[in-house]
Amino acid sequence: MSSCFIALFHVRKWLAGLVFLCLLGAGRSPAQPSGNPPATHVLFLTADGFRTDYIEWYEPANLKRLIKEGVRVMHATNVFPTVTTPNMTSLVTGAYPRTTGIAGNSQYVKEEDRIKDKLRDNHAETIAETLRKAGWKTAGVNHFMLAGRGTDFYASVGYDDSEKTTDAILDVLKNKKAQFVGAIYGAADHAGHRFGPQSAQVKEAVLGIDKAIGRLVAGLKELGLYESTLIAFTADHGMSAFESKQAAKEPAQALRQAGFKVATTPAELNAQTDIVVLDAGVRMVYFRAPLNEIRKTEARSVLSKIEGTELLERQALDKLGCHDNRSGDLIVSPLPGYTIRNAGKTGGQHGRFAERNPILFFHGPGFRKGATVESGRTVDVVPTLLRLVKVAPAKTVEGRALENVFE
Ligand SMILES: [Zn+2]
Repeated sequence: MSSCFIALFHVRKWLAGLVFLCLLGAGRSPAQPSGNPPATHVLFLTADGFRTDYIEWYEPANLKRLIKEGVRVMHATNVFPTVTTPNMTSLVTGAYPRTTGIAGNSQYVKEEDRIKDKLRDNHAETIAETLRKAGWKTAGVNHFMLAGRGTDFYASVGYDDSEKTTDAILDVLKNKKAQFVGAIYGAADHAGHRFGPQSAQVKEAVLGIDKAIGRLVAGLKELGLYESTLIAFTADHGMSAFESKQAAKEPAQALRQAGFKVATTPAELNAQTDIVVLDAGVRMVYFRAPLNEIRKTEARSVLSKIEGTELLERQALDKLGCHDNRSGDLIVSPLPGYTIRNAGKTGGQHGRFAERNPILFFHGPGFRKGATVESGRTVDVVPTLLRLVKVAPAKTVEGRALENVFE
């Protein structure tokens, strides 16, 4: 009788232990590598026009430390043309212009017969919208494509003011309890345009951003968030000096000389316009509705003969993820070593294939440490971040999680 009681007591003790072990196992997420607390916060930082080489050229100490503790994508491919608005949009949506509908800094909208700028009519879901639906508190700082697009808080504090940008990020983390912040540091782009990428002014801008990032990291540590925050640091495009060689003709001028009525601005667009040509480093060329097929063929012939450029037709544009309507019918793209305008002048440019060289690195729990990977796309940033916080990407996401950046 007593031995039976003792046996039963042992079985119950064993069962209790088993239940305890099961509960312990359930509390730990299986996909999270051991030793890493799960990520609780995401900082999606974009430095406008931050060419990846700036790390080697200007040695920004705080960014270099983050890279050393994280994983850098050596060749990040952005979207074409390499201008700001479509790239900022594609970064926060993980989708190409064909899906976002944002193809340039300005674009001709055929249905409305209008040239539009300050484009905000993005058709894809932003990462802020995705996370907010999953219950996250979200914020945007300077990121014009996140204003009113999934952010609980939004602040525009001065695009080029790196210190104020850091202040605003820390403010929403601390006082608004934001868990996701999408922010832009803008200073390197404007300095790059005015003085060129290899200039004292760009160096100063890069080191200014770096100092502000150093303070951001210190703030994260103070708030006790550093160990559990995912950081993506990237750019919309790179920056190049103006080349010494110039295309033989400005495409709009070549078309005018061949007898076409061309508009390059909203003021020039009227009922007689045959073709719209917009500057995006490259030239986006739109046939206006009344133009017949013979005249279109003539226009192609004119554009294809401009020395120092290549003519990208529909098929090539589709492969690049360009929009089937908003990106133009054709794009005139300078050949390597050529610029369409301002050859030999001081300053910088982007928009061409040559500026597919933005910075991209990741840092935080779940990312490899001290690693580099060869390549990735800027549309991959959103699904990569979402993977580590276990939120499913939106249906509009075209990028893929970069498997080789995870631990
Ligand atoms: Zn830009």
